[in-house]
Amino acid sequence: MRCVPLTLLLLTGCAQAPPGGLAVGGGSGYARLELIEDRWSVAMAACGDPAPWEVQDPAYREDFRTDTACQQAFESDLGMSLESMGGSEYFLSSFRLSMLELMGADLGTLDQLDALPPEVGTTARPALIDSLQAIGDATGRPETQAALYNLVASLVTRLEKVDTINDGTATGSEIERDTGRMYTTGSCDRGVSRWHCATTLVHEATHVWNQVRHVACPEGREVQGIDVAGRNLCDTDWNSARGFEGGAAALLDHHLPAGGAYEDGYREDAASIIDEVHALVLED
Ligand SMILES: [Zn+2]
Repeated sequence: MRCVPLTLLLLTGCAQAPPGGLAVGGGSGYARLELIEDRWSVAMAACGDPAPWEVQDPAYREDFRTDTACQQAFESDLGMSLESMGGSEYFLSSFRLSMLELMGADLGTLDQLDALPPEVGTTARPALIDSLQAIGDATGRPETQAALYNLVASLVTRLEKVDTINDGTATGSEIERDTGRMYTTGSCDRGVSRWHCATTLVHEATHVWNQVRHVACPEGREVQGIDVAGRNLCDTDWNSARGFEGGAAALLDHHLPAGGAYEDGYREDAASIIDEVHALVLED
């Protein structure tokens, strides 16, 4: 199963965000900020504090296969287990690797996000940057990858493998915005890259973070081959699940050093995610 459609087949059962945004919590303007914890530092320690991008080193990956403490950090952070993944070690493993990617990236520091190059800023928009900076302020971590990881690890409370979503009419992933319980029908086995799954996790966590749901795409804005119960799901603006998903892909792509073992596959994945997001965010 490819991961591309999985990022696009999401959430039909959630309520609309109230006009004007959410109630202010703690003066930050982000109602869910009180749920954010610094799980990134805990996971990094459990995984031996890898150097920037070292998690993409094939030797590190090989060690990771038997690193129980590191694996368990990710299982705890997504609320997943062999049981919740329907007994599928493959599903469990693929989501562990996605969390490893998010944790071990080097995306610079949060203050650097105010001066992104134009080609990155067209996808990593102010709504994402403001949210990540608020998360960084709350956790005391200046690293952009820490904020992105903490968004996912704090707000996805349980990950469960299911046969269908959307009341049995679709495949993909969805999340309950009030509880953070996420359901998925797919693993992350698209080529060599785990970025599709990692950015899908960002997408789902963002539904909990900003409480925004998708809207039906107007005619002409659909992505071919993507269909949920006869329609496609778009987002009104960049403060949305797709907006943050695309922004995460753009940041990963921008900071990925050249010459890594999986570079081609990762850049291809990022480009694909970014293209889809630009097609489905209606503000553009
Ligand atoms: Zn969604």
